Amino acid sequence: MPRYELDGQVAIVTGAGRGIGRATALRLAREGTSVTVADIDEANTNQVAEEIESAGGTAHAYTVDVTDRADTERMVAETVDRFGRLDILVNNAGIAVIASLMDTDEAAWDSLMNVNAKGVLLCSQAAARQMIDQGSGGRIINNASGAGKIAPGRSTPLGAYAASKHAVVALTKQFGLELSSHGILVNCVCPGIVDTSMWDLIDREVAQLEGVPVGSVKARAAAGIPVGRIQQPEDVANLIAYLASSDASYITAQALNVSGGMLPY
Ligand code: NAD
Repeated sequence: MPRYELDGQVAIVTGAGRGIGRATALRLAREGTSVTVADIDEANTNQVAEEIESAGGTAHAYTVDVTDRADTERMVAETVDRFGRLDILVNNAGIAVIASLMDTDEAAWDSLMNVNAKGVLLCSQAAARQMIDQGSGGRIINNASGAGKIAPGRSTPLGAYAASKHAVVALTKQFGLELSSHGILVNCVCPGIVDTSMWDLIDREVAQLEGVPVGSVKARAAAGIPVGRIQQPEDVANLIAYLASSDASYITAQALNVSGGMLPY
């Protein structure tokens, strides 16, 4: 059931082919938003757009590489051609690379910074230009991470990922301040341990490094979550839908945790 009045609004969700992005695209569509489902994976992009359409929603599939400026500009232009405007951008596309900082090579660093940080910059610039031209404000909601606020620690070798997510928090705050005079509110969400393909990858690779069974690393991490269960993509989509709504009209330049109590600050 829809909870917010987003009827007639238009959203782009990047990384919407699976995981948190997929849940967010489905949720915004259920709220009445026309959604551009954008992902680098064409098959998943089409599948999620079809899922939205068959549930009675409105979707457009767009295959995008968020690291390519021209591509991000086309994504916005095609959305406007298709739906007439753009109100909400969700910068969700992201990647993880598992390595201690001492073992992080330049290729890993560059790909993390390109997708996780530059992708947010490029998509936000393209979307904000459109929102400024429209003159009626907008929302930009970034998917950062708890790793955007803390160092993940020795047992979770995600140091370069954390650096890229700290960059997302900084981009959120500065974009929020720069765009506030246009009525464009910019916030980010900081999830904890979400049960998606990304955490399956972390589990597999850390298990291999530690020589422990696959599944045990995720189980260990989940056991430390105060609310007592691993996070689902929909838990993150709930906060994103709220941040897109009129109930969140006095919130900008913030990094909000949605982590089951894992980040008590
Ligand atoms: P996921 O790997 O399931 O989904 C990420 C999506 O991003 C994939 O569909 C992928 O194809 C897409 N993508 C990757 N590179 C892209 C590019 N260059 N252009 C366009 N799309 C691209 O991961 P997820 O867990 O759903 O993560 C979504 C976001 O949430 C990421 O930014 C991630 O860092 C963040 N996050 C995840 C967790 C977690 O525990 N899973 C926690 C905190 C934050």
